[in-house]
Amino acid sequence: MTSRAGTQGSPRVLRSRNMLRTTSMVRTPSALRTLHILSMLRTLPVLLALLSLPLGAAAAAAQPADATTETEPTEETLIRWTDETVRAFAAGELDTAAALLDKLIKWQPGNFVHRYNLACVLSRQGDAEAAAEMLLQAVEFGFSDVNLIRHDPSLANARETTTVQSMLEKWGEILDRRVDTDLERARDRYGSKYWYIKDPDLRLAYVCAYDEQTLDEVKAEIREVHEWAMQNVFAGTDADDRLVHPDDPWILVILPNQADFRAWAAQTYGPAARSFTQAIGGHYSHDEKQLVTMDLGATIRHEFMHVLHWRSNGRRNQMHPVWVQEGLCSLIEDYDRDSAGKLVPVESWRTNQAQFLAKTGHLLHIRDLCNIPRDRFTSSRPLARYAQSRALFLFMHREGKLAEWYAHFTEHFREDPSGVASLEAVLDGDLDQINDRYADFCRALPEVPEEVRRGMASLGVSIDIEGTGEGLRIGARPRRDTGDLRLGDIITHIEGRPVRDYYELVRVLTSYEPGQTVTVRYRRARLHRECEVTLQRSGS
Ligand SMILES: [Zn+2]
Repeated sequence: MTSRAGTQGSPRVLRSRNMLRTTSMVRTPSALRTLHILSMLRTLPVLLALLSLPLGAAAAAAQPADATTETEPTEETLIRWTDETVRAFAAGELDTAAALLDKLIKWQPGNFVHRYNLACVLSRQGDAEAAAEMLLQAVEFGFSDVNLIRHDPSLANARETTTVQSMLEKWGEILDRRVDTDLERARDRYGSKYWYIKDPDLRLAYVCAYDEQTLDEVKAEIREVHEWAMQNVFAGTDADDRLVHPDDPWILVILPNQADFRAWAAQTYGPAARSFTQAIGGHYSHDEKQLVTMDLGATIRHEFMHVLHWRSNGRRNQMHPVWVQEGLCSLIEDYDRDSAGKLVPVESWRTNQAQFLAKTGHLLHIRDLCNIPRDRFTSSRPLARYAQSRALFLFMHREGKLAEWYAHFTEHFREDPSGVASLEAVLDGDLDQINDRYADFCRALPEVPEEVRRGMASLGVSIDIEGTGEGLRIGARPRRDTGDLRLGDIITHIEGRPVRDYYELVRVLTSYEPGQTVTVRYRRARLHRECEVTLQRSGS
């Protein structure tokens, strides 16, 4: 058993000017709950979050039984029952564990983890057929970790049944049915004005409120991020890791409009999230196999890296520490292109923070950073933790060691799940020496302007600082010679480089001089257009 945090991702907290208070945002209790999977492989610290989305017909029947005649157990009671189940199972008290799981299933019928766990108990009790039946139910309710079904020792008896064997043979079909069910449910929720489009190559299913051209741009950029990740992160691991495997569950990529995003945030993170929606950029929930964001910039890149990283973890039955999860996924948030047009991670407002921490002597030692538990990482000064983790990944990337480190880390994960030993192995030197180099690297990071300063190149139009998720809206009638731009246009790219939020815009503008002419891409109502804009000198 393990007490590690669940696989439910943290939300990516956006940084906006009036939102510093939200960085300590507390998640609602329902989102914090995690649940143990019984009888996992000893090396497999997998936990699933308690909340899961039940499927189709099963969902309709998934109302708690006898809710009117019995008092509903409190959340604390459910957690206590879960803990007792884990303890009983570990102690071999299988009848006790089964009785507790029956109660949990009664009150949380849509939760596939309880059904999976009961299948394990039944299988160990020798009732292979009942175990197989329960496992089928778990899958119907959304359980999709086929590695666990194939290798969990507690399911040995169940795996002998034709029920489970034929289920494993048809696994691909089961996943296909599941994504179709998920898309149907999404259609019920979001309606006919959204796009519902599958990308079989990456096993992604898009649910998108944006127009078709915007969706095409998103899909193209996601493919580029995928390619970047395969070449720069996963290149050193076995070839299998670089393929999208038929065993990989489909992921729903939900890109809602603002109203639907707010409703989702409130539902997922509690009513308080309504006032914080500017701060929650989105999240990826590995249990639900869902990525949700309305930010087509840094957030979708970050969350999509979580998708790829979890796929990699799933194949190895590993769960990487939080600094790896968040540092790796933050790395490609801000990128530019090299001369060949390939993506390259660049300095950003996050590296500014790392630089500040280094210059003021507040940079955590790598050893401490790599050993922070998830709850502390996200509850105490999360932006500083993200900044340092991203800076460490950028450091590895600039040293040309990122793929080598990832390969070494995954190969030696059991010996050192913190990743520190792998840093020493690929970066040459003991940890203190590496830490000194990392601190030097942070101190020397060029500062990235976070606002358009006097004298900098500027578009010469007023822009709403709070982006729309898609881009930046022109908030006042342009006065000067600013090409064809008009009030209300949504600017999305400069010279083909995305400028989906204000920080991205400022960063991109720093690479041009006043007087230069650039091609600006924007959307005006349904039309996507481009125009030439001669950059102004800000403040002049
Ligand atoms: Zn993240």
